Amino acid sequence: MSCLFCDIVEGKIPAQIVKKDDHVVVFRDIQPQAPTHVLVVPTKHISTINDLTGQDAAIIGKMVMAAQEVAVAEGIDESGYRMVLNCNKDGGQSVFHIHLHLLGGRTMQWPPG
Ligand code: 5GP
Ligand code: ZN
Repeated sequence: MSCLFCDIVEGKIPAQIVKKDDHVVVFRDIQPQAPTHVLVVPTKHISTINDLTGQDAAIIGKMVMAAQEVAVAEGIDESGYRMVLNCNKDGGQSVFHIHLHLLGGRTMQWPPG
């Protein structure tokens, strides 16, 4: 089955890559919702957060640490930022390869829409 984010991880589809290592790829969202809006994607294909198992716990840790590193690099660590994981229809998930949104550079609203 084809997967957009697997294709980006494998370099088959271009993206503005911010960081890449063996475990995660970070790239800019094509429709940014904030001055900084990047997606942190594990190199391993996992469809939704529901599909995570205990063995994937380290992956989530690496995703959050990558987002923290990019927040510093983007200069939004002190002003603040938001990390978001959407799951399935009600969560607003549109790409079924898990991804952590890192948004910052403006004041976020609460509650989210
Ligand atoms: P979701 O709605 O699943 O939480 O987030 C998917 C995100 O992927 C959206 O913010 C959307 O703008 C972004 N996106 C969709 N297609 C592409 C693409 O081809 N390239 C990039 N860089 N981002 C994409
Ligand atoms: Zn995938």
